[in-house]
Amino acid sequence: TDLTPFPQPKPWISAIHAYVPGKSKGADGRPLTKLSANENPLGTSAAALAARADAAAPALYPDPDSNALRAALGDLHGVPAARIVMGTGSDEILHIAAQAYAGPGDEIIYVRYGFSVYDIAARRCGATPIVAPDADYGTDVDALLALVTDRTRVVFVANPNNPTGSFLPAGDLARLHAALPSDVLLVVDQAYGEYVAPADEDGALALAERAGNVLVTRTFSKIYGLAGERIGWGTGADHIIDALNRIRGPFNLSNTAQAMALAAVADQAFVEASRTHNLEQRTRFVAALEAMGNHGIRPLPSQANFVLILFEGALSAQTVYEGLMEHGYITRWLPNQGLPHGLRITIGTAAQMDEIAAAIRQMAERA
Ligand code: PMP
Repeated sequence: TDLTPFPQPKPWISAIHAYVPGKSKGADGRPLTKLSANENPLGTSAAALAARADAAAPALYPDPDSNALRAALGDLHGVPAARIVMGTGSDEILHIAAQAYAGPGDEIIYVRYGFSVYDIAARRCGATPIVAPDADYGTDVDALLALVTDRTRVVFVANPNNPTGSFLPAGDLARLHAALPSDVLLVVDQAYGEYVAPADEDGALALAERAGNVLVTRTFSKIYGLAGERIGWGTGADHIIDALNRIRGPFNLSNTAQAMALAAVADQAFVEASRTHNLEQRTRFVAALEAMGNHGIRPLPSQANFVLILFEGALSAQTVYEGLMEHGYITRWLPNQGLPHGLRITIGTAAQMDEIAAAIRQMAERA
């Protein structure tokens, strides 16, 4: 045997469970209709697709600061462009936020069933992840606040949360923020923010504008239909954006990504159509599930583009997951996230949701 010592990852890196993405193929390699990753069933704005051709030449490095895109996002959201940082997906922003503000000996808090990247982001920088108990699969503000110590550096809240779909209303978010020490960074991850009904807005963008310790993150992967281009952004106080800019990838948005995102921001009609489609189909799908009654099928309330269904009766989530694969659909069963009774289904087209609801009803009647 080779006794030469080999490089050892830091112990906190070895403790990480790698992110498990939603699958897109069945066990036999057969392609399936993918409702496992919360992508946009309407695809991508035609204007954004057309803009691909206008992207700067691939031989040239992209604009390192994504200036045109940040200006457009700033106009759309009423935020100075200087207070926007771009990321290779909002994942990059989550990671660099943890890295900039926490390290070994520090604590990062998120809620049980919170987005799985928070655990990786916390461990990656050597900080200790602290998991707050949930309140019926949602954020329990008091339980979270009870865990704050003088070692707490960052709190992650996804609003709406993935995979539960739960939503923390503006009043609760403001209460959480008000009770946090001002030197703790509150990251409000709004990857699904554009799907929230305007009347229910959580106020996070306004909070990020006036508070010195709030970072809001958003993505082009969901409502903008650009998951494959890896584009995310964050906004907060100047000193937060400055810290993140020091450590983000220097050319983190490709030429194509910048060109497509710029056109996508200009096409708000596509965003509106996606929001309307999602609301209509999610409402119909949840109503169909609720009408099944007596089978222990519980769709959790969702403000996002997916629904987490809990199977609490004779029919198991695993059976439905496998049964839907027989119907040609891949969904997200969540045993690895402490939810062996949970199945997360992305809202697809009307026909897809009808087919899925009918298949679940049939399985429930047979169980
Ligand atoms: N936050 C949440 C809550 C998510 O569900 C996702 C996507 N799974 C992300 C962030 C990251 O998305 P992206 O890196 O594609 O922007």
